[in-house]
Amino acid sequence: MFAITKEQPKHGVWDKEIEKPAPPGYGEVQVSVTKAGICGTDHHIYMWDAWSAGRVRPPITIGHEFVGHVTELGNDVRHISVGDRVSCESHITCGHCHQCRTGRAHICANTEIIGVDKAGCFAESINVPASNIWKVNDSIPDEHAAVFDPVGNAMHTVSAIGVTGRDVLIVGAGAIGLFAVAIARCHGARSITVQEPNNFRAELANQLGADLVLDPTDFGTMAEWRKQLSQRKPDAILEMSGHPPALRQALKDASNGADVALLGISPSTVEMDLSNDVIMRGLTLYGITGRRMFDTWYEVESFMMRSPELMDKVVTHVMPAKGYSRGFQLMDQGACGKVVLDFSDL
Ligand SMILES: [Zn+2]
Ligand SMILES: [Zn+2]
Repeated sequence: MFAITKEQPKHGVWDKEIEKPAPPGYGEVQVSVTKAGICGTDHHIYMWDAWSAGRVRPPITIGHEFVGHVTELGNDVRHISVGDRVSCESHITCGHCHQCRTGRAHICANTEIIGVDKAGCFAESINVPASNIWKVNDSIPDEHAAVFDPVGNAMHTVSAIGVTGRDVLIVGAGAIGLFAVAIARCHGARSITVQEPNNFRAELANQLGADLVLDPTDFGTMAEWRKQLSQRKPDAILEMSGHPPALRQALKDASNGADVALLGISPSTVEMDLSNDVIMRGLTLYGITGRRMFDTWYEVESFMMRSPELMDKVVTHVMPAKGYSRGFQLMDQGACGKVVLDFSDL
């Protein structure tokens, strides 16, 4: 079957004919993939940065955001039927560690991620644990259902600190940052400021309801903004760029006592002035990973059902899976919101 793989430990991803997965094992289902989103994580793996080189072991099929149809059930799968239209939580958790047993499976000590630690969804079929499956509501179209996972990242980040009535700063308007703008708006943020150097994404942030979109590379604009901040500094900060200088600056721009949710993966170690910028000013930093299982999924479902027009704005490209190179190039250039690959017509 067709698959997009990380064949070698260097820049790039490749397509390849691979074996179809074996019949699903105990508690697993096999899903025929219809559509799949290219994630920032896939782009990290494509770039082969320090994070991916330290974690991913090629050759491996990449991809972890998808929607498809169940084609086969393993033993002891009762709540899912062949033909169900489903998405999937990409974090496979152990179910028996302390975190899993205390309702915090998103930080399971034994997490394996689809398309990072084991075969991914950029392929015609994939086997996944039935407990990771999410049945998709009929009203949600495939190109939205394919990206439950990253919308979940945005929802989890926004929900972790709470934005209602707060002055929100979103650093980085990649796809997850853009989803976060839309969600923060729906959650009643008092104001939403976005920092994004890329014009295409800055414009999307505007359309999604940001009050102010700033180019962090424009020294004059940023100096003027900081002058105005003496009135009211952001107190809910969502770091979604993974860009170390942007994080350092966001900490300085935060109001005393601000909550800072960190989702962006930095390509390398980040240095910061912890004493002056965090401790002495009473900031709280939150590391955000994955989605709460499955609280976040219910929240995302209702967001997708109620705000399809916002989803449409962020999902800017749907293209044939075989055109994946162009998808990755668009991400290189930042000339896209979310890119979705169509595997239904290979
Ligand atoms: Zn993702
Ligand atoms: Zn666990």
